[in-house]
Amino acid sequence: MSKMLQVKNPATGELVQEVRINTEEEILETLKKGDAAFKDWSKVNAHERSRLLKKWANHIQEHKAEIAKVMTMESGKPINESLGEVDYATSYIDWYAEEAKRIYGRTIPANTESKRIVVTRQPVGLVAAITPWNFPAAMMTRKAAPALAAGCSFIVKPAEDTPLTTIRLVEIAHEAGIPEDVVQCVNGYGSEIGELFTNSDYVRKITFTGSTPVGKHLIKNSADTVKHVSMELGGHAPLIIAEDADLHFAVQQTMSSKFRNAGQTCICANRVLVHENVAKEFSDRLVEEVAKLKVGDGLDKQTQVGPVINERGFEKVVSQIDDATKKGAEVLCGNQFDGNREAGYFFIYPTVLGNVSEDMKMMQEETFGPVVPITTFKDIGEAVQIANSTPYGLAAYFFTNDYRTGSYLHENLDFGIVGWNDGAPSAAHAPFGGMKESGLGREGGIEGIEPYLETKYLSVGGL
Ligand code: NAP
Repeated sequence: MSKMLQVKNPATGELVQEVRINTEEEILETLKKGDAAFKDWSKVNAHERSRLLKKWANHIQEHKAEIAKVMTMESGKPINESLGEVDYATSYIDWYAEEAKRIYGRTIPANTESKRIVVTRQPVGLVAAITPWNFPAAMMTRKAAPALAAGCSFIVKPAEDTPLTTIRLVEIAHEAGIPEDVVQCVNGYGSEIGELFTNSDYVRKITFTGSTPVGKHLIKNSADTVKHVSMELGGHAPLIIAEDADLHFAVQQTMSSKFRNAGQTCICANRVLVHENVAKEFSDRLVEEVAKLKVGDGLDKQTQVGPVINERGFEKVVSQIDDATKKGAEVLCGNQFDGNREAGYFFIYPTVLGNVSEDMKMMQEETFGPVVPITTFKDIGEAVQIANSTPYGLAAYFFTNDYRTGSYLHENLDFGIVGWNDGAPSAAHAPFGGMKESGLGREGGIEGIEPYLETKYLSVGGL
């Protein structure tokens, strides 16, 4: 009998749908088909690939409400955010549909009259993607769109918790005319499918979004066949409020950075560092706003903060809050939970903690929950030192209207994405990705198609 994944709604514990786990034989067959499809798809001209990608984007938009509802049911994300994610996911397809037509080579002047030097770009081959549950649509299209635009074929394994959105996006791609073997989806357990992907000679590139430990494992396992790897891994974003910051604006931006998807985004502010002279005022204003947030089932349009994804996520956040309060953190609001393992729902009420110190777990590890830990600094050099004291380097934010402070922070923060008076920097047209243990490569922008391309150099002699 087939083994099934039980996709459950983390707001209610109800079964949303069962999804069949693919057997090893099926997955190996999928890889073989993907490799064969690459040979044809890579020959389709760029304008036709672009046309099909645009059709896919349009079809997704036609099914926007349906996709958003599925996403909310499987992930708990508030419906307005799911609708926003469908747009965000579509924006990557739109962007790379255009970039498909701009994969340029170059000619290089030779050092002799008898030679010509030509550089061309070609797709790397079959791409295998592994995606997380926190953005089930956008993390898939951010990989699939540049891969298909470049002429690669593509196989995705979505997270066990949220396969339904991805399955639907792949169906819609086929309905839009992208050949079935060019974009495929397989379902099952990450550790097992990851091995099949990394061991396969058909797969020329692994692209992964998820946790840093799994990313490291995939990098190691890709070494034997020297695959290309792109890694979008964990984050531990600092958000710095300088003494001169516009506090009203900074509070608004902190809210949008922190509480989107119940704090389960890799770039959300994980540590808030406030200049000691404005810490009290900032904290009071923030608590006033946080207390207004409506927590509930994401299908209710009024909900602003949904549940966290599962029991593991719930326990991690609760234990971090517990650790912080035991070590002296002051609860400014929240610290309430409504989780029920048997029933299968997992709510954490938005929490703000003051008097936070660096020895607390939440100042060292990614939290992935609706919790704001606030610590203070005396001068901007100290803020940079605290911000950079982490192996992660994905996103950092700062709020200042002083150009010298801003320039100093921009130059000294070791993070791949920096928001200056901006708590929401992600965009299809900009390069997203991390430094240090937050990743390898970039997704989005002109940089985002590069990892799907090889460079070929032709030297013609005897002319
Ligand atoms: P995770 O455990 O690493 O899971 C992510 C994906 O990897 C899932 O599809 C999972 O499959 C799969 N997986 C698990 N173990 C694997 C293995 N041994 N080999 C191959 N694949 C494996 O991450 P998570 O905790 O669910 O997701 C949150 C993490 O993603 C956070 O660290 C967050 O910062 C990061 N993230 C990063 C970005 C970015 O752009 N940098 C964006 C979003 C999220 P199963 O579901 O079957 O276990």
